[in-house]
Amino acid sequence: MNKVNLSDKIFSTISKAGKELNYPVYVVGGYVRDQLLGRNKQDKDIDFVCVGSGIKFAKKTASLLSNKIKVTVFKNYGTAMFKYDGVEYEFVGARKESYQRNSRNPIVEEGTLQDDQNRRDFTINALAISLNEETFGEIVDSFGGILDLEYKLIKTPLNPDITFSDDPLRMLRAVRFACQLNFSIDEKTLEAITRNSSRIEIISQERITTEINKIILSKKPSIGFKLLEKTKLLPIIFPELENLKGVDIRNGQGHKDNFYHTLEVLDNISRNTSNLWLRWAAILHDIAKPKTKRFEAKVGWTFHGHEVVGARMVKPIFKKFKLPLSAEMRFVEKLVRLHLRPIPLSRDEISDSAIRRLIFDAGEDIDSLMILCEADITSKNKEKVKKYLKNFEFVREKIVEIEEKDSIRNFQPPISGEYIMEVFNLKPCREIGTIKNQIKEAILEGEIKNDYEEAKLLMYKLGKDLGLQKAQ
Ligand code: ATP
Ligand code: MG
Repeated sequence: MNKVNLSDKIFSTISKAGKELNYPVYVVGGYVRDQLLGRNKQDKDIDFVCVGSGIKFAKKTASLLSNKIKVTVFKNYGTAMFKYDGVEYEFVGARKESYQRNSRNPIVEEGTLQDDQNRRDFTINALAISLNEETFGEIVDSFGGILDLEYKLIKTPLNPDITFSDDPLRMLRAVRFACQLNFSIDEKTLEAITRNSSRIEIISQERITTEINKIILSKKPSIGFKLLEKTKLLPIIFPELENLKGVDIRNGQGHKDNFYHTLEVLDNISRNTSNLWLRWAAILHDIAKPKTKRFEAKVGWTFHGHEVVGARMVKPIFKKFKLPLSAEMRFVEKLVRLHLRPIPLSRDEISDSAIRRLIFDAGEDIDSLMILCEADITSKNKEKVKKYLKNFEFVREKIVEIEEKDSIRNFQPPISGEYIMEVFNLKPCREIGTIKNQIKEAILEGEIKNDYEEAKLLMYKLGKDLGLQKAQ
C-alpha cells in the first residue's frame, strides 16, 4: 500500500482551521483511495469531512489560504467548495442520512465521523485520514477498506440492499469503480445490485450519463458494460446495446454475438484514442444490426443497411442520454454511416477515385474513421487480424498520397456558383448546381485536377453542352 501524501500546504492549513474552529477534520473519499493505490488522476478534487459545519469550515480554510478565494456554498446540502491552484476542495459536515423510498433526497442530520462513514458508498471510499493535531495522518478504517483495497473489492460498508435502495446511483458507481480500478464487486454487493436494478429508474439521466461516460473513458470499458449486463442494469439504461446480445442459428449457420463484438471494438479503440466521441462511435457502429438482421437462404445472415439505419439511431440515443446534439453528435453519426466504407478499399485493387470519394465524404474525420475501422477487426485468428491491419495500413498510405496530390479533405469547389452565374449571365437556376456537381465529380473521378484552371475549362465545356451563352 502506498503512503498518502499530506505534505501539501492545504493539509496543514486545514489542520489549523480545525484547531481554530475546534472541529475534528479528516480527508476522505477518492483522494485517500487513489493515493493508497498509487493512482495518478488528471481531474483533481479532494474531499474533507469535519464534525461541525462544512460551510464554516470551507470559509475558514479559504481565509487562511488567501483573501481572494471565492467559496461556493450549497446550502441545501450543507456543503461548500472552492478552487485553489487548480484543485477543487470540497467540505462537508459529518452527517447522518435517512432516506424515504421514493426519493434520492435524504433527511440529513448532523452526525459523528462514524455516522458519516456509514453513509458512504463503498468501504474503499469510506477511509478517512485524520488532520487533527494529535492524530495527524492516522487512518480511520471502520469497515476494512484497506483490506478491500488489497483484495481489489468493491463492497458496501452496510447491508448492500439498504445502501442501494437509499441511493440507487451507487449501483452504477459500483460498476464504474470496478471498471476504472479493475476491481471485482463483492458477491453480496453484486447480488444486491441485481436485486435492486429496477430502482435505477428514479435516478436522473444526467447522473446516469456521467457514470456511463466515466465507464467509456476507462482503460478497458468492456469490464463496465459486462457488469451492467450481468446486473440487469443494461436493459434499463441502454436497451439498444442490450439488444445486440445473442446469436441466432438457422440451417446450422450462426452470426457473431454483436454485443461482445461491440465491446471488443470498444476496448480496441480505447487503446488508440481517449476521445469520448470516437469511443461512442465504436459503441454505436453496429447498433442497428438487430433491426436489419435477415436470413437469406443463399448467403446466410445479413445486416444490409445497418450503417445507414444505425446512423439514424444516433440522434434519438444522444437525446435520451442528454449528450450534446451538435458537432459531437454529427461526428458520431458520420462515423457510424461510413464505418464500412474503407473495407472494400483494403480488399480490392484500390482505385484512386474510390479513395478520393472516401476522403471527400469523411473530410476532417478520415483519420478517426480509419481508427474505428481498425478497431472493428475482431477475429480470433491472429494472422487474419494482422493481414487486415496491414491492408488498412496500405489504405492509409494511399490516403496520404492522394491527399498530398489533390487536397480533397477540406474540399472547396474551385469554381463558385457566383462565378458560373457571372460567366453565363444567369439568374439562380438548376444549371448552376449541375455544373458545380459535374466539376466535383470530374475531380473525384480524377478526370481533372482539383484546380481553378482545369475546372474553368470544364465549366466552359459543360455550359456549351447545356446550350448556355457566355456573357459578353
Ligand atoms: P472520483 O472523484 O474519482 O469520481 P470519488 O470517490 O472521490 O471518486 P466523488 O463523487 O468525488 O467520488 O465523491 C467523494 C466521496 O463522497 C466518495 O469517495 C464517497 O465517499 C462519497 N460519495 C459520493 N457519492 C456518493 C453516493 N452517491 N453515495 C454515498 N457516498 C458517496
Ligand atoms: Mg472525488
